[in-house]
Amino acid sequence: MRGDLSAGWVKCAGFGEMYSFDERERELYFEGERLDRRWTGEELAGFCAGCGGELSSLGCYSTPGGWLVASRCRGCGSIVLAEYDSRWAWKGDREVAAAPPTPGPRKMPRISEIPREELEAVFTPAELRDMERCERGEPYLRQNLYRARAKYQKFERLFGVRIDI
Ligand SMILES: [Zn+2]
Repeated sequence: MRGDLSAGWVKCAGFGEMYSFDERERELYFEGERLDRRWTGEELAGFCAGCGGELSSLGCYSTPGGWLVASRCRGCGSIVLAEYDSRWAWKGDREVAAAPPTPGPRKMPRISEIPREELEAVFTPAELRDMERCERGEPYLRQNLYRARAKYQKFERLFGVRIDI
């Protein structure tokens, strides 16, 4: 009876475990911690248990006990997270949720993602133009970017957004 009880307890303890997957960045998180990504590549990763469609892999992540492979079903679009041991024997599928937009350490937003009115409150049109050019890898005027950089702290103070370009 004791064994049964402890098995039940282990099951309960594991209940809160939660994976989340950021499909845009192809990052996998376990309780907010980002897992080590080993590769991303679209390969046939099996078949969907729900609809039988082909699973296309999105990324592979290492865990202390083996590997996790995230893939998307080409049929129904659901995300599947399969767990393997260190010798690539399939252990089972794990529940996975879509990651919130900015899990873990806060990500730097792209200039185009920041509301225009907020940017224009701090930066001049020329500074904004060159920040965007720099971000896109296009030629820009250094002076404008230097002037803009001097205002990043002010921008963060006003709008709570850190820019890093
Ligand atoms: Zn499916």
